[in-house]
Amino acid sequence: MRFADFGLSPDIQRALTAQGYVYPTPIQAQAIPIVLKGRDVMGAAQTGTGKTAGFSLPIIQLLLAHANSSMSPARHPVRALILTPTRELAVQVAENVQAYSQFTPLRTCVVFGGMDMKPQTEALRRGVEIVIATPGRLLDHVEQKNISLAQVQMLVMDEADRMLDMGFLPDLQRIINLLPKQRQNLMFSATFSPEIKKLANSFLTDPVTVEVARSNATADRVTQVVYKVQEDHKRDLVAHLLRQRELKQVIVFSNTKIGASRLARGLEQEGMKASAIHGDKTQQERMAALEAFKKGEIDILVATDVAARGLDISDLPCVINFDLPYNAEDYVHRIGRTGRAGASGDAISIYSDKDERLLADIEKLIKQTIPRGDLSGFTPSSSRVGRDDRHGERRASGSSSAPRREFEGRGERGDQRTGERRPGSPVRREKVDPWFLKPYEPSKSSAQVQAAQPAAPAKPKRQLAALLGGLRKL
Ligand code: AMP
Repeated sequence: MRFADFGLSPDIQRALTAQGYVYPTPIQAQAIPIVLKGRDVMGAAQTGTGKTAGFSLPIIQLLLAHANSSMSPARHPVRALILTPTRELAVQVAENVQAYSQFTPLRTCVVFGGMDMKPQTEALRRGVEIVIATPGRLLDHVEQKNISLAQVQMLVMDEADRMLDMGFLPDLQRIINLLPKQRQNLMFSATFSPEIKKLANSFLTDPVTVEVARSNATADRVTQVVYKVQEDHKRDLVAHLLRQRELKQVIVFSNTKIGASRLARGLEQEGMKASAIHGDKTQQERMAALEAFKKGEIDILVATDVAARGLDISDLPCVINFDLPYNAEDYVHRIGRTGRAGASGDAISIYSDKDERLLADIEKLIKQTIPRGDLSGFTPSSSRVGRDDRHGERRASGSSSAPRREFEGRGERGDQRTGERRPGSPVRREKVDPWFLKPYEPSKSSAQVQAAQPAAPAKPKRQLAALLGGLRKL
């Protein structure tokens, strides 16, 4: 099958030729004819399968009936609404829709939070047929009467599972209530939990299910491997693997924002071109990091799930899980970054003793045992302990070979504000307590405490007391 077989308008064909697309991907081959017929669709497809074109090409085709070059905003009501969970995905989808509709008079606009509302407001007020939005910011615009949803005839929920994970259900319900009852609905999700099915039942009408891969199936072309190391050797191992395999264009997943920042900083200290992308970065910082990564100015993007989900970065040869995800389904999403569009890819995961259960959950979900990697040739660097430790916490005698305890809580609290950590998951260090950033010279007493307990996991209170020099008085 070729794109020419769908009977799409010559303006769309031209755009596809400009993109270099000749053959539709399996999800496109299935979804495009169904959407063109006006049916609701429930799509089981991961990012990287071409699902964006799968829904946006027929949307553009159907909306062409209304396309016009009038300057009047009234002639350009919002007719298609595409909802995405993250800003990055919104931007990415918008770029695709823009590219596919570039030779038509249809207008597109993307709205998402974390940016000035003004340019978005101006674009909305000029009139726009296709709006790509994150739910919260869309509702802000609705409240400010910058947008009317009264003429929406097509609704897409992209990455619906992630929207539920991120707590968008109430926003989605509010948005759905603002739409005309008569409309076409398309929902895409990589996974189908009971909650997703419930959402689908509540807003899809007699949907056709299109599926390209069994849900929770890992990409066939991805070679997976897991390495077990001590928790405090994980960073060394990432650096070792990056060097040994001469990896460029790698996404490394971290479960926490602070973990992502630290790892990126650590890799930079090793002379690598790395940057972190997570929910605490400003929109501009995230975009800049992403752009630099796409241009090859950065080789390693260290990301949290929320920041990385749905990113369209092609030719990714490898993803690394610095932390195993708390949610096994996230493993499937993560490794979906590689092995795309026919290319093969590597998915490397690193875990320690305490992650055995997480690994078991993943293997149960994907119904595979992931091969255990051989670590001969890897020697964790002990020199870095002193070098990294700018505050002198480990310069005490005997501490140079002591494992670093980056993720073992020393009294710091997890940052629960942005919800990147799942409820019930182990609390990990998200925010550095400013106390630890103060210059610190170990007193004789604390040095003794350190030396006395070089490898034991520190209990938060005790460790704090030790660092304060309050445990043992000489
Ligand atoms: P998506 O799953 O929609 O994020 O798409 C993944 C990647 O595949 C994007 O970079 C698209 O530009 C690309 N793509 C989508 N459809 C096709 C196609 N039919 N042929 C080649 N590349 C495609």
